[in-house]
Amino acid sequence: MSRRFEAPKGTFDQLPPASGSRAEVERIMLEQARLAGYQPIETPIFEDTAVFARGVGEATDVVQKEMYTFTDKGGRSLTLRPELTAGIVRALIEHGRLTTGLTKVVCSGPQFRYERPQAGRQRQFSQVDIEAMGSNDPAIDADVILVGHEVFRRLEIPVTLLLTSLGDPVCRPAYRDALLGFLHRLGDQLPAEARARAEQNPLRVLDMKDPRVQALTADAPLMRDFLCNACKAHDQAVQELLAGAGVEWAEAPRLVRGLDYYVRTTFEWQAKSLDAAQNALGGGGRYDKLAEEMGGPPSPGVGFGIGIERVLIACDAEGVLPTPEPHLDAYVVDAVGPEAGAEVTALLAELRETGLSADRAYGGRSVKAQTKSADRAGARYVVLIGRAEMERGAVAVRDMESSEQVEVPRNRVVAWLHERLDTKPEVLGQ
Ligand code: AMP
Repeated sequence: MSRRFEAPKGTFDQLPPASGSRAEVERIMLEQARLAGYQPIETPIFEDTAVFARGVGEATDVVQKEMYTFTDKGGRSLTLRPELTAGIVRALIEHGRLTTGLTKVVCSGPQFRYERPQAGRQRQFSQVDIEAMGSNDPAIDADVILVGHEVFRRLEIPVTLLLTSLGDPVCRPAYRDALLGFLHRLGDQLPAEARARAEQNPLRVLDMKDPRVQALTADAPLMRDFLCNACKAHDQAVQELLAGAGVEWAEAPRLVRGLDYYVRTTFEWQAKSLDAAQNALGGGGRYDKLAEEMGGPPSPGVGFGIGIERVLIACDAEGVLPTPEPHLDAYVVDAVGPEAGAEVTALLAELRETGLSADRAYGGRSVKAQTKSADRAGARYVVLIGRAEMERGAVAVRDMESSEQVEVPRNRVVAWLHERLDTKPEVLGQ
């Protein structure tokens, strides 16, 4: 017997009908981005490894432990993207797009992290990601957050928006020293993993889930108390804009997030209905120095990434999973056989050309079986090609909701369906 294959560990297949919900969630996210002026961008799934090492930060878990890195046949070190921002920034620098004005882009696609698979955590997952580069105006931070806010409102997922400021290169070094001093004073009381993190990036000790670490660091100094005046003013402005737009948030002074590039505004949306292991639906923040660190011009940026699979889990938990019904405007049933083959194909092409969704059965099945398939496909109308009707230059059309059947001249049937469906025929090729 030949070997059967399975999807690699930590990956998944998306099959109908679940794939329909997924596509709908992605569509809603992309639509919100489009409404706010973000234009689509695509970058490669793999990049020069250094793009992520430099862009995401050598000291992050993502770079140290989770990257899918390989050497290609040309001896280059490449990495499957573990996140989207670094590749987008690389592309905008490479194509000279960061020299003037504001650039707003949106990207949706898979990314890869070698993590321990568990509920809500996979090795391949997808995000919708928006980035606005070229301005440090706090109104852009609010703009980005509002896009995500509207996504969750439309999807009817109750979320908590966690918000904080991580300071900037002016004020963070003093805070880092204060925090490191605090952690050093804890000495051996801190578990080894926390001590190791402290040496690489002490802020990351604050977001450890280990309750011992949380208890020991309950009185740790907080960035909030070290913000310089410029960071304070920025933070205040973002909060005022959000309040003005009716967005609620929770101050989260211990929010760090795992990527090194964040400065100032940093945020995360948590689903109220999910447990802590998988409630982070998405997040983001400012990364004002990233473009320069990646060899580009100064270009402050802010953005978010929202995980599509996590959002689907939250929709499911809330009972608001969008489930688009299978739907076809018309289903062509062939009651004649091979000699009507050309007619069936021509009619289908005509329906689709004018913008109606239409399908047919294949394999010469009985009229009854074809009609059953039409029903299963969710067809609104069946167009039956019968011998008697054909001789009269007509077709029979059945309304699948009322079961009413009428005869319509063949040359009128497309217009007739559009009238019934209240749609306008698209005129193509003119
Ligand atoms: P991050 O890029 O780590 O800030 O993650 C942003 C969002 O991506 C998270 O809130 C999740 O929704 C999603 N995400 C991150 N890692 C994974 C993963 N391993 N599996 C599924 N979703 C993930």
